[in-house]
Amino acid sequence: MNYISTRGAWHDDPQPFRAILLEGLAPDGGLAVPQRYPRFTAAELAALRGASYPDLAVAVLSRYITDMPIVDLRRIVSSTYTAATFGSEEITPLSTLEPGVHLLHVSNGPTLAFKDIALQLLGSLFEHALRDEHRVLNILGATSGDTGSSAEYAMRGKRNIAVFMLSPHGRMSAFQQAQMYSLDDPNIHNLAVDGTFDDCQDIVKALSADTQFKCAHSLGAVNSINWARIAAQVVYYFKGYFAATTRDGQPVSFAVPSGNFGNVLAGHVAKAMGLPIAQLIVATNENDVLDEFFRGGRYRPRGAAETHATSSPSMDISKASNFERYMFDIVDRDPARLRELWRDLERGGGFDVAGTPLWERVGESGFASGRSTHADRLATIRDVHARCGALIDPHTADGIKVGRELRQPDVPLVCIETALPAKFSATIREAVGFEPPRPSAYADLESRPQRCTVVAADPSAVAAIVAKYALASVGAAPQRERA
Ligand SMILES: *Cc1c(COP(=O)(O)O)cnc(C)c1O
Repeated sequence: MNYISTRGAWHDDPQPFRAILLEGLAPDGGLAVPQRYPRFTAAELAALRGASYPDLAVAVLSRYITDMPIVDLRRIVSSTYTAATFGSEEITPLSTLEPGVHLLHVSNGPTLAFKDIALQLLGSLFEHALRDEHRVLNILGATSGDTGSSAEYAMRGKRNIAVFMLSPHGRMSAFQQAQMYSLDDPNIHNLAVDGTFDDCQDIVKALSADTQFKCAHSLGAVNSINWARIAAQVVYYFKGYFAATTRDGQPVSFAVPSGNFGNVLAGHVAKAMGLPIAQLIVATNENDVLDEFFRGGRYRPRGAAETHATSSPSMDISKASNFERYMFDIVDRDPARLRELWRDLERGGGFDVAGTPLWERVGESGFASGRSTHADRLATIRDVHARCGALIDPHTADGIKVGRELRQPDVPLVCIETALPAKFSATIREAVGFEPPRPSAYADLESRPQRCTVVAADPSAVAAIVAKYALASVGAAPQRERA
């Protein structure tokens, strides 16, 4: 399997997986996508029923990662998806909320959010690739909470990798801050920026745009457009499908709390690979750029001023970075047509496909969408607790609320649990009046020693720290900055 760009690069020179592993972005600004989606026949799907999570992962990933010996892939997958890391052999167990409505628990990894499923794998894939190519990677990122901790837990202790994670000093929840700052691995550098998340992101952009600095220090990113993250997420759609069905070929729908469109894109890919998915139900919060598109055909990313801070904060996005991969399929994988749409986006701030043949294709793609508000979130958390005896996080509540409204009555619905309630205790308390339980490993989290380096919201101050502690060459001993 080789990879092309959504905007046309690499079409005559498709790239192997290892060339797109570290960066999802193509040189023309497009995103890396596989040349085609590998399809499972009905018989191949039937043979996967009952497979363990690691076996399913190898079956799916080996179709995308074809330039790595299968024994290496198998070893990486088996050491990633373990009961020790994800809490059970099932890795992503399924429970039933009410007749026909299930919850797929994909958030039992180290940071209690679904991003661990992909990032844990990415950590091992990166380590493997860097060793083979005798390279080092210094990951530079900005986080408002969730992504940063997931990346740090995935990369801690990994050889030839260091992480420099910028976070807004004093602006995260106590839980999120403790989760990151209590890590004492020498290759993890927490930089607490005197400023906001936007300041952090601006600094990362400024340093990454400095090609000389970027090359000199082997800077990389672990952002949401990385294709390997999407591929890793495809696996739990398979797992959820088999867990929710009893016979082969039976359709299932998924409800997916969405922000950057990475999670639900993996569902779209699973469907393209032959999994019998009826509906992919996109749930947004008050930041409803995706809902607006799936309801009426207009895609209009918002600016920072129009992006609301909500009680499902990991979905507070103004544009959905992975949406371009979906639209590439809608335009029948014609990069010229895709470029036209994205030119409209850049020029006019949006595009509208209503009334065009593209809108028909969107309709045929099986997507449905709805939005959920703070009041809906609280009501859903309360209702699911009272009627189903389950405590859910605010993002998951958005998915269940919209999923229940839009589902087809005879098709089982799998709602994806994107985080555990322990991460968002204030909203849980507001909804049900008590603290959510915490996995025992996190009982004393906030009282553990923390370390971070406080730095001014100034690219040159951050650059100085990166230059000082970045891994310089293979085998160089990672150093630790002083707080
Ligand atoms: C990242 C995240 C989302 C959004 O997922 P996308 O792949 O960006 O659509 C939803 N819920 C939680 C808890 C998250 O961390």
